[in-house]
Amino acid sequence: MIKVCKFGGTSMADGTNMRRVAEIIRSDPARRYVVVSAPGKRYGGDVKITDLLYETAKNVRETGSTGEAFEKVKDRFRGIVAELALDFDAETMLLGTEAEILRENSEDFTASRGEYLSARVMAELLGMPFIDARSVVKFDAEGKLDGERTFGLLREALKGKPRAVVSGFYGEDVNGKVKTFSRGGSDISGAIVARAAGADLYENWTDVSGFLACDPRIVKNPSRIGELSYKELRELSYMGANVLHSESIFPVREADIPIRIKNTFRPEDDGTDILPTSKYRFTGKTVTGIAGKKNFTVIFIEKSLMNAEIGFTHKVLSVLLKHHISFEHMPSGIDTMSFVIDSEELKNGVLEEICEDIRQAVSPNNLRVHDDIALIAVVGHGMSRNVGTSARLFNAIARAGINVRMIDQGSSELNIIVGVDNENYENTLKAVYEEFFNET
Ligand code: ASP
Repeated sequence: MIKVCKFGGTSMADGTNMRRVAEIIRSDPARRYVVVSAPGKRYGGDVKITDLLYETAKNVRETGSTGEAFEKVKDRFRGIVAELALDFDAETMLLGTEAEILRENSEDFTASRGEYLSARVMAELLGMPFIDARSVVKFDAEGKLDGERTFGLLREALKGKPRAVVSGFYGEDVNGKVKTFSRGGSDISGAIVARAAGADLYENWTDVSGFLACDPRIVKNPSRIGELSYKELRELSYMGANVLHSESIFPVREADIPIRIKNTFRPEDDGTDILPTSKYRFTGKTVTGIAGKKNFTVIFIEKSLMNAEIGFTHKVLSVLLKHHISFEHMPSGIDTMSFVIDSEELKNGVLEEICEDIRQAVSPNNLRVHDDIALIAVVGHGMSRNVGTSARLFNAIARAGINVRMIDQGSSELNIIVGVDNENYENTLKAVYEEFFNET
């Protein structure tokens, strides 16, 4: 049995937490490979090491020196090493890193040093070898993960090492330069190591006991999701349920490796299991989780006999392509079609230009724009098993007096996405949660 464990920023925040991490790893011999984030916040208002490093990169760019921000980084690590009473030369490591940061003068390199340093400290604490992600995680010319090379190199590096600590968040590009994943990317690194190690389980240790069925800032004490499938996770995390980086499923999915979300501060809690869709068992719940996001714009296009006009969609999509705009959803009818787009992408006159170009391209009878739209995704394999789910959903929203602006039901019957005005977002989430989770 092999478990790959990734520990997030709060789990690595200080020496006490790192000791906890070490205890967790030692308590189960299957926990053989460890992937770590940079130290995160120790308390509300504290600054994450990675944020300090982005500030350091800015200082280096603008003034040629690492500045106050890197002083804080060094002090945090000095504190951690002292607290752990480790007998290793942290000073040389920190000063060497500072010199490299100045030499490289690259934002990605600087940002990656949080993971590099925390993995080195963790390796020391656990007495395990350290594997630098730079030597095993490789990106291709387009900046995407080069899976084939990465898995090959990692397998080679893990061979003969029954245990190891690997730094998260970064790898190396085709020019030999360090490149990071997007923020929160150590989750992806953990998944990559799990895949290369042929792990039976990818444990992702964080500061919450798993996924909640709804945003706890909006619904009080939502229930915890015990099990969900990769597909459900993808839908929920895409919509902002951000316990896990939304790209971290891909490396493990192909190898059918389950992910378990665990809480470093309450290791006895069950957490959430994310299972390959093929291994997923129906839990009896109609809806697994509800998530949502605000601030979308819907461009609604109507034209009689649209269905018979060959190339209609192509022409509209060409307009989006020309403006480099990606869309999130495209609900359509016989004579209607709409595009749901993140409002951020349509600022500074872009929306007006797109509408004009669409008018030119397809001469619609009607073109309308709704902005300030929130999307709510109601997700669950159980929805396709239970007759009347959508009736329940829309009745609940109607009872709350909320007008539905848009509906999109994915073809997998796994989710229904509802668009409402931003101002109705919270009340819609509450109404839908009440309907499906407070069944008495
Ligand atoms: N340290 C990085 C961040 O703060 C990556 C991670 O923690 O996963 O985004």
